[in-house]
Amino acid sequence: MRPENPGNDRVYNYERSYNLMKRVYLLKAISLVFLSLLLLLLLFRFFSSKQLDDVSPNIPCDQKLLESSDILFVIPKFENTSISTKQDWCKSILALNKTLAIHGVYHSYNEFGEDRSEEYLLEGIEEFYNCFGFYPQIFKAPQLKITPLNKKLVKNKLTFYGYPNQLVHKTYHCNDSGEITNKITNLI
Ligand SMILES: [Zn+2]
Repeated sequence: MRPENPGNDRVYNYERSYNLMKRVYLLKAISLVFLSLLLLLLLFRFFSSKQLDDVSPNIPCDQKLLESSDILFVIPKFENTSISTKQDWCKSILALNKTLAIHGVYHSYNEFGEDRSEEYLLEGIEEFYNCFGFYPQIFKAPQLKITPLNKKLVKNKLTFYGYPNQLVHKTYHCNDSGEITNKITNLI
């Protein structure tokens, strides 16, 4: 509403420009905080450990990618192939001297997006042991999908890596099948 009195008009205009300025400053402050957080996240991703998902004898994997990653997420029974029956492969992965973790059991689509039994999880853990000679400590679900019950089950035995982990670490995929390609992961 436009006031009728010219004096009131000046006050009205002053208040309007003051409010506008306040909004611009607030917007600038929010942008600055957002950009700082983004920069911090990118810096953190750059220096934090690199992870490689989908490591399996049945999935071709670039040797350079295997060598440049810090944690390898192994699928124990991809396409029903037990890694323990591929001892040469087990040795070659061990020889890389990386932290080895478990990435689902069969890695079917959204495998842990439906409730699984303890036996199911143990099947993967034992398979991992029979390949590498030690039990895994870290678990990441295929497609990162996991039900609350499965999460509880996993956390009873292993350290669980979910979305926050994926945000602060660069994660590559052996067959470059991730939602974010390896090339883009390299950049950000
Ligand atoms: Zn995967």
